This record gives sequence, C-alpha cells and structure tokens, in this order.
Amino acid sequence: MFSERKIQEIRNQFPILKEKIYSNPLVYIDNAATTQNPLKVIKAYKYYYTKINSNVHRGSHFLSIKATTKMENVRKKIRNFINAKYTSEILFTKGTTESINLVASSISFMIKKGDEIIISCAEHHSNIVPWQVLCNKKEAILKIIPINENGKLKIEDFELLISYKTKIVSISHVSNILGIINPIKYIIDKSHEYGSYVLIDGAQAISNIDLDMQYLDVDFYVFSAHKMYGPTGIGVLYGKKSILNKINPYQFGGEMIKNVSLKKTTYSEIPFKFEAGTPNIVGIIVWGKAIEFVEDIGISNIKSYKEKLSKYFIKRLNSINENEIELYGKTKNLSKKLSIFSFNLKKFHCFDVGSILDRLGIAVRTGHLCAQPLMKFFNVSGMIRASFSIYNTIKEIDYLFDSLLKVKKILKN
Ligand SMILES: *Cc1c(COP(=O)(O)O)cnc(C)c1O
Repeated sequence: MFSERKIQEIRNQFPILKEKIYSNPLVYIDNAATTQNPLKVIKAYKYYYTKINSNVHRGSHFLSIKATTKMENVRKKIRNFINAKYTSEILFTKGTTESINLVASSISFMIKKGDEIIISCAEHHSNIVPWQVLCNKKEAILKIIPINENGKLKIEDFELLISYKTKIVSISHVSNILGIINPIKYIIDKSHEYGSYVLIDGAQAISNIDLDMQYLDVDFYVFSAHKMYGPTGIGVLYGKKSILNKINPYQFGGEMIKNVSLKKTTYSEIPFKFEAGTPNIVGIIVWGKAIEFVEDIGISNIKSYKEKLSKYFIKRLNSINENEIELYGKTKNLSKKLSIFSFNLKKFHCFDVGSILDRLGIAVRTGHLCAQPLMKFFNVSGMIRASFSIYNTIKEIDYLFDSLLKVKKILKN
C-alpha cells in the first residue's frame, strides 16, 4: 500500500494539480472523463516537436525513420501491456469512440436482416449509437441486457438473449457511471459458444485492471490514451489478427494502400490497412510515456490504492442520512467496483450542486454522463460523478464531503 508520502510524490509529477480554481486549490475528481498527464508525458510533447517532428512511413530521411521507429515502438509497448499475440493486432484510432465505429463499419458486410446485436443498458453512448445505426441500416435487431437496481448486469437475461442469430456482443468492461466491473470472461466465452464476436469497451478498465488479450480470447478490445494519463484524441482498437484480415478497411487514402492505379487499389497488410492518413504521431509517442508511468507504479498498486479511496468515500457517504443522498451502483464488494461514484443529493438538482462544487475548486462531472438510457433506468435527469485516480487523496474526499454539507446549506436558503 502506498504511503501518503508516495502519493505526494506522484502528485508532484502532475503540474496541473497545483492550479487554483476561483482561488481554491483544484480538487480534480473527474478522472472517468479524462485523466491528467504527468510531466514526463508533457515533456515528451515538447521533445517531439523540438527534435523529431516528421511524417512517418513515407520519407526515408533521418527524422522520418526516427519518428516511425518511436511510433512503432509504442505499438509494441501496447501489445505487451495488454498481452496481445501480435503487434499487428494493435490499430491506432482517435479513441474508444472511433474504435467502436471502425468495428461497426468494418463488419457491416457480415450483418444481414434479422441478425442480432447485443449491448447493455449501462453503455456509454459511443457503445450504443454505432450499433443502432448499423441495425437500422441492415434491418438487424438491437437487444439490450438489463441491469438490476444496483447496476449489475442481469446475466440470466443475457443467457436468454444470446442465440445463433447474435453476430456481435458489445459490452463495457467497466461502466463509466457505476464503476461496476462486468463478468466479461463469462460473456466472451458464452458468446463464442454461439459463434458471435465480442467487443469489449475497456475505456475505464485500461489503467485499473491487468489485461491479457490472449487469456480473455476477446475479438475486439478498445480504449483511449486520455483515460490512462495520456493525451486526448488517440486510442487503440485491438482486434484478433484472423478477424482483422477478414474485415473491410474503415477509411481510404494514404498509408493504407499497397498499390493504387486509377482503376484499382490493393490494401496494405494489417495494421496499416486500417490506418488511413497521417496518424496522431505525437499522441502515440507521448502515450508511450504514459504507459511507462502506469507500469512504474504498477496496476496492482493503482488498484489497491484506489480501493482504499473507495472505502473511505463509502465511509463518508454512509455518515450522511439515507434520505439525503442516493448512490447509484451499490456493491458490498469494493474490489468488484472501480473508484467511480455517481450520486445525487436527493433534494437538489445535480447542476446546482455541481456549479457550487466548481466554485469551491472541485471538478466533478454532472448531467447525463454520456449514458441517457441509464439515467432513464434510474429515473433521473442527471447525476453527479466523482471519479478518483492515483493522485487523489483522503483529504480531497474529506473536502468533497465537507463541501457537500456547504452546498446543502447554500441551496436550502
Ligand atoms: C470515455 C469513455 C468512452 C469514450 O471515449 P472517447 O475517448 O471519448 O472516445 C467510451 N466508453 C467508456 C466506458 C468511457 O469511459
């Protein structure tokens, strides 16, 4: 377990945490939306544009080779980080959203009228809308796994929904609202029994759970750099080689071709077949530094420290009268939940609470949290979400709850 001193050392690597918001110290607890970047990532940005900037794969000049090598080394690093079998199974995209869109578009030729696609009602919009669009286009049917009142997937309902008509099951590893870790290994194996592909949205899991693509045997796994201390606008689609070789490219143009004549084009091998245009080279290269940051700390240390924060959060929450606060996604077993807490002060609107917290320097997310169907399920228009990271402290949780008491006083008047 990390000492307070160790956490302070980690905090010192994040310059943004020293910012003042309306003259209060910033308490950044919106990590499920995006995480902050450590100094080594920020420095790598400057280094890239000072020393390396060049286009990749094309030129044979010194800088281009250097940029290409550095970029491809990060692809290898990511392969290693998630234990994929082949480096060519790592495709760079803009992020989780683009990765899901890529799959929905590239497999569309396999979907026929009456086929079925399964998602859950706790998905991020980016894991709902691409499937809805695909189903509309192909007259396929979107089936929804429901959740129980504590936000857990009703697995017995999934077992009723899955069938030989199912072509793809697309589920989040961890909900960005409830923080609940879904039983994805079971879902993957069950889906494969029926010949269905499985996509796992790993946006929240990537910096919190040890991942092993070969053990999971998943077909597609997607995530974004900015949820793991890296930059925005860059992410990965992991896909099984045999499937990637079979499915269509997503976009067309430079980088992804082998031969072009004015009549006919042949495509490159994977992963390049899926990477049309100049990639986010700097984003990829500095992401490598963010992965080093996570590896240096260690996923298991991140997990156990965040569990400590979760326990303390729940302890403070339980000291508030049940009539006053509602937590969504309750569980007794905090090792089955990441430190993401969505709640409401029952008598007040989440936007009013959020804007006062903001004035006090606290960054939380309020509103529908990119999951309107889930809001409907809980019958609320929005929630307040506090999501913690390795650089958050017990003191910040105290400040949050002390601030919530202040909010109640202010809004009562
Ligand atoms: C953040 C998030 C996304 C979207 O990620 P982008 O980087 O915005 O594409 C999708 N799913 C989950 C579970 C997320 O937390």
